[in-house]
Amino acid sequence: MNLAVAKEPSDARVALVPVVAEKVKALGVDLLVENDAGKAAGFSDDDYTNCATLLDRDALFKQADIIIRITPFTEVELNRMKDNCIVISQFEPYNKPEITDALKKAGVRGISLDMIPRTTLAQAMDVLSSMASIAGYKAVLEAARHLPRYFPMMITAAGSIRPTTVLVLGAGVAGLQAIATARRLGAMVEAFDTRQAAKEEVKSLGAKFIEVEGAADDTNAGGYAVEQSKEFLERQRAEVQLRASKADVIITTAQVRGRKAPLLVPKETVEKMKQGSVIVDLAASTGGNCELTENNKVINHNGVTIIGNSNLAGLMPEHASLLYSNNVLNFLKVIIQDGQLNLDLENEIVRGAFFTADTTE
Ligand code: NAD
Repeated sequence: MNLAVAKEPSDARVALVPVVAEKVKALGVDLLVENDAGKAAGFSDDDYTNCATLLDRDALFKQADIIIRITPFTEVELNRMKDNCIVISQFEPYNKPEITDALKKAGVRGISLDMIPRTTLAQAMDVLSSMASIAGYKAVLEAARHLPRYFPMMITAAGSIRPTTVLVLGAGVAGLQAIATARRLGAMVEAFDTRQAAKEEVKSLGAKFIEVEGAADDTNAGGYAVEQSKEFLERQRAEVQLRASKADVIITTAQVRGRKAPLLVPKETVEKMKQGSVIVDLAASTGGNCELTENNKVINHNGVTIIGNSNLAGLMPEHASLLYSNNVLNFLKVIIQDGQLNLDLENEIVRGAFFTADTTE
């Protein structure tokens, strides 16, 4: 069985780095790697030659039984693949439902790693977490790069400088990594998330969780959120906006799968921020958490820099590729036994990720 690694068309990462490629080969498959697939991430073709055959794209698509990539394939590419070929990538079918039909029309089976259920068992295959963690880290570094101010407190002979205040909105995987990184750089960090469970995690990283008095008691709700009064939600919103308008840096990470990202930083709040402040919006690709965000652009609004980038992991291609590769390897261990494919739909991990299963099986 031929398992191929395709080159990313416009991303510096590669889906399988050489050190992990060797482990994939040990599963009993023949490895094909597209010429220059790892080049932008720092891996030469020579790094792959001991475990893989290097090919051009045409030959690779003709021979592959399974093709791995980080970014989705175009219809033209899908139509060049073998019948019944399996493509493994991040297709986001919940955001782009038309992709299922495109694969079906091309006679290709699709596995979307971003559909793997987020269970303890599947944690080692969770590409969303791996990439979100890098994005959270990189978001802080990008903010620091654009900010015309220090992050840490500085006491120098030329004067003392107060530490920067960073506000993180959405304290999931990316948000928590952003909090930890900003803390390491010496910033004062505040954070907010609608999930109460995030509060303890935020505090354990040394950041302040934004809250207002008067929340309805959820201690007997079995871990579920309870409905809060309109008045409470309004006070909560006002407090977050107040903190946002005073922050030097805002990092927003809130996404709701399959829906437009929630609006957390309206234009009027941006206009109250200090000159030179920076907003990094990781939800840019799904509409943005900031009203003014433009996807894949860095803009300046009245002296505030707004970075709209949902692919910051792509700016750290070596480690992003390594973590993605390990996620892929762990998934392949589930679907390949003794070099043969075993797409067991009884397995919830396979069932979750194999999004074309109903239509092509
Ligand atoms: P995400 O990228 O979907 O969202 C980021 C954060 O934004 C979440 O914490 C969410 O609660 C928050 N958010 C959404 N709407 C908001 C709003 N209006 N205001 C403020 N915050 C808002 O989430 P994620 O980082 O992928 O993970 C979120 C949750 O999933 C976390 O509880 C995480 O621990 C859990 N998780 C579990 C596993 C696992 O068990 N294998 C893996 C990854 C994540």
